[in-house]
Amino acid sequence: MVNDLTKLRDDLGERGIDVLRVMYSDVLGIPRSKDILVSQLDKACHNGPAFSQGVWTTTTGGEFHEANGIANDGLQDFFTQIVPSTISPLAWEPGVAYVIGDAFNPDGKPNMMSPRSVLQKVIESYQALGLHPVVGPELEFYISTKDENGNFQRSLSQTGRVYMTGTLVDPDGDFLHLMRMLDSLNIGAFAGNHEFSPSQYEVNLWHSEALDAADRTFFFKSAVKDIIAKRGKHATFLGKPWSDEGGSGFHLHFSVTDADGINKMHDGRGNLSPAAKMLIAGIVKHANALTAFTNPTINSFKRLGPDTLAPYRSNWGYDNRSCMVRVPPERGQGTRLEIRVGDGAANPYLVIAAILAAGLDGIVNEMECPPDAVGMAYDNEDAEILPESFTQSLDALEVDDALRNQLSQELVNVFMVLKRDEIARYEAAVEDPTTREVTDWEITEYAEAY
Ligand code: GLU
Ligand code: MG
Ligand code: MG
Repeated sequence: MVNDLTKLRDDLGERGIDVLRVMYSDVLGIPRSKDILVSQLDKACHNGPAFSQGVWTTTTGGEFHEANGIANDGLQDFFTQIVPSTISPLAWEPGVAYVIGDAFNPDGKPNMMSPRSVLQKVIESYQALGLHPVVGPELEFYISTKDENGNFQRSLSQTGRVYMTGTLVDPDGDFLHLMRMLDSLNIGAFAGNHEFSPSQYEVNLWHSEALDAADRTFFFKSAVKDIIAKRGKHATFLGKPWSDEGGSGFHLHFSVTDADGINKMHDGRGNLSPAAKMLIAGIVKHANALTAFTNPTINSFKRLGPDTLAPYRSNWGYDNRSCMVRVPPERGQGTRLEIRVGDGAANPYLVIAAILAAGLDGIVNEMECPPDAVGMAYDNEDAEILPESFTQSLDALEVDDALRNQLSQELVNVFMVLKRDEIARYEAAVEDPTTREVTDWEITEYAEAY
């Protein structure tokens, strides 16, 4: 261990990296980090740098929930082991590199409050069946400024004809700069465009093995916020930051392969395989509980609705963008599902873990896939409407034992406490909590953190 660290220290020194920013996601998906001086790496990491477990369980407002019984074991340390394969130097902060920190208990076992550990557990359940999940993330987000009153403002005012147009929709070059910085971060960002709404953009990341894709998405979200902040602006992945404009999705392309990387989603004759159908069946069956992780804010449910390009029902269809699960037209190695329900505020590890877990339940129980939806599916009553509020979503998670067991009871319990508390604070603060309009409370609570 010490020899490896000495070598790592010397290698990083040669690459001009003097600070390692050890990053991990808390339960809510907020990036947490500790900066380790590379010159001290062998000393600092002798047993892994230790962090207090308390950071899994604070809210964005910094409110501590010991009273709710979630930190009842005295806030023991967990140990963080750096994952050297994830070292990614930051071009916008020369000398600094991100690295993932994996969390372990003092006894050396994975810490199951860690979203990354939970994802690893679900991936292992696939591997036990000889299957290997592959995912490709696409995320939308807004870039905005703050006015003299501290309110967020979109920089572009025109609506219409902004989708996939050129420099006119990036007047300050922020997006172009962002793309170049992401390129140097080497996290598989390969394309980006202006989205349907003014000052809304999308970036696509290459697909890869699920844990690697989650790490890259986690770095991506942190990087976008950092890079844009350095230019005095704000990037937000919040699902629905403006009442009058489109929401921001976190679409997930998902397939499974065998151990040799051969796609198992098709039957070789242009049809979906039985495994693909069972994955879809599991995902639509667990849709309501799933949204607790794919749509994990009060704000998220103001994005889902008819005619939004975000889904409204727990349905699926062939190349159908009005569905929760779209099956893109490619076959062969490219056969995959696109799960369209999530929004960018979601924790990448938990989005991927929950979608994988729902699909796995479909496979394990050989679930029957409902018929595909044809045409605009928002009004097609063959499928249920997705939860219309965060409370409905959490209620569904509360009783979905299969999903909870595939994930981690420990993490799900804490997540529920934090999120029920979030709802209580919202309901106490907002005059009409049932409003579909985006409230100031949501912007204050979420826009900067997410
Ligand atoms: N912005 C839409 C959403 O909220 C998606 C638009 C698209 O298909 O790119 O999911
Ligand atoms: Mg898009
Ligand atoms: Mg998409």
